[in-house]
Order: sequence, then structure tokens, then C-alpha cells
Amino acid sequence: MAKIIDGKAIAQTIRNEIADEVRSLSDSYNKVPGLAVVIVGTRKDSQSYVRMKRKACAEVGIRSFDVDLPEDISENELIDQVHKLNADLDVHGILVQLPLPKHINEEKVLSEISIDKDVDGFHPLNIGKLAMKGREPLFLPCTPKGCLELLSRSGISVKGKRAVVVGRSNIVGLPVALLLLKADATVTIVHSHTQDSESIIREADIVIAAAGQAMMIKGDWIKPGAAVIDVGTNSVDDPSKKVGYRLVGDVDFQEASKVAGWLTPVPGGVGPMTVAMLLKNTLDAAKRKIPQ
Ligand code: NDP
Repeated sequence: MAKIIDGKAIAQTIRNEIADEVRSLSDSYNKVPGLAVVIVGTRKDSQSYVRMKRKACAEVGIRSFDVDLPEDISENELIDQVHKLNADLDVHGILVQLPLPKHINEEKVLSEISIDKDVDGFHPLNIGKLAMKGREPLFLPCTPKGCLELLSRSGISVKGKRAVVVGRSNIVGLPVALLLLKADATVTIVHSHTQDSESIIREADIVIAAAGQAMMIKGDWIKPGAAVIDVGTNSVDDPSKKVGYRLVGDVDFQEASKVAGWLTPVPGGVGPMTVAMLLKNTLDAAKRKIPQ
């Protein structure tokens, strides 16, 4: 049976470490890390993500700057807000909650965030540096960084291993593949046009599943003993639940748990790590501002 990687517990350990560091930063340098969380409009899912991020900040002592903007704000007005936050010395990280309303060009807005405050790690310069040998990005995107942290804190080495990433999105699949490559794994990326994904995945010592396809990866697609990190978060109808649905990953958990060596659950695996890595990136951004 697979060892279940408890992302919630690992994330809590990291949050405690961050809280300690935030306290000592404040004691020694009178500096409190600050994260601006910008939300445009009233989408329920975005509001709940933003609430969760702001609460997580408060719990570790990071000051959160709440910027709540109306749905009909213009692109230029939003960019002005980003510029103000870029100039604010108390703000060390800026997060613009996605998706933005249709009339706003997300790419344009995100590229206005100062690279040294890009705690989401989505700036093309950060991703570009991640892809290049010998270059270090200022920030790693939170979910990919969380996946690697789950592996290392579970004692799973990456070097020389065969890794397969399922998905190639800018926010998960591509950066996690680049991170694995930087960590000396041999990496294959599987996407929606890949033929015979099943046999490619079956060769992997490490599988990172980020396709957004409910329970796509079956037990017999997994190499016995492999480490399986399931990023997928998909809702499936479940009349037995009060809300009428439940969340499942991209991996068939029941089947995979009989074959894999390690496995993350959904929920309670990668999700909590994403928020913990956002806090860590904000702390690191503030630490960089301490005069040497
Ligand atoms: P996207 O929809 O942006 O990307 C999905 C990727 O999976 C694409 O590259 C797509 O290929 C590929 N794909 C789709 N179907 C298949 C298939 N049948 N076989 C192989 N590859 C396939 O999703 P995201 O990257 O944003 O998110 C992926 C999942 O991770 C989602 O379930 C999302 O909810 C979850 N997520 C979880 C987070 C967390 O913190 N736990 C954070 C972010 C995301 P192609 O490029 O060819 O279209």
C-alpha cells in the first residue's frame, strides 16, 4: 500500500516555520512582510480563494493589503493600482487573483507587476530564468514549488529519476517539468495530443498529474512503487454529499494506493502547499529587502 503524503500536515509545518521567521524578522529588523491580494469583481470562487489567502497571511503574521476592485474597472485603472503597489515599500508581494473580467488582458496586467514582487512567479522573466541553465528565478510558481517540496519533505529523491508530468499549462505543468529538470530528473511531458500516455506514465518513478481530468490515471498506469503527486482538483457529482459534489484528483486514488509507493490525496495534498508556498515567497521577498 502507498504511503499517503499528508500535504495538510506538511503545509502546517511550513507555516509554523514561516511564522517563526516572520517573528524574528520583525524583532531583529522591525520589518513585517506584506502581501497585496488584489481581487476584481465578485466571483464566488475567487472570493473564497482570496479570503483563504488573506486568512493564511494573518495566521503567520504577514500583513495583508486588501485591494477589492469593482468588476467594471478599466484595464488602465487596474494597472494604475498595480503601479501603486509596486511603489509601496510596505508591500513585498503582489498577487492578482485570476481570472480577471473578460475586458481586461490578464497577461498585460501580470507583466506590470514588479518582478521583485511577483510572488506568484508567473512573470515571463521568472519562468524564463527557470528554464535556463545557471539562472535562478526570483520566485518559483507556488503549486509547482509545493509539489517539489512534498517530494523532498517525504524523502523522495528526484536526481536521475524518470519523471512524467501530465499537463503543460503555464501555471502548473510547464513550470513543474522545468523544476524537475533543474533537480536533475529525466522529464517527459504528456498532454492532450500525446499518444499512448498510459505507457509513458507507466515508466515513471515520479508522476505529477495536472491535467484537470477526474480520475484519468488508473492503478495499472502506475509503475509499482512510484511517487504520485496529484495536482488535479475536479468536482464530480455526488448526491450523498450535502453540496451535491465532491473533489477528486486526476488519479484514481483507490486503485493507485494499491500500486504507488507514495501518493497525495485530493483534497489535502497539493492544495494546502500552494498557499504555504505563497506565504514563503512573500517572506523571501521581504528578506531580500533587508540591507546587507
Ligand atoms: P489547464 O486546463 O490549464 O491545463 C491542463 C493541461 O492538461 C493541458 O496542458 C492539457 O493539454 C492537459 N490535458 C488535458 N487533458 C489531458 C489528457 N487527457 N491527457 C493528458 N493531458 C491532458 O489546467 P491547470 O494546469 O490550470 O490545472 C490542472 C489541474 O490542477 C486542474 O484540475 C486544476 O484545478 C488543478 N490545480 C490545482 C491547484 C492546487 O493548488 N491544488 C493549483 C492549480 C491547478 P493541452 O495543453 O494539450 O491542452
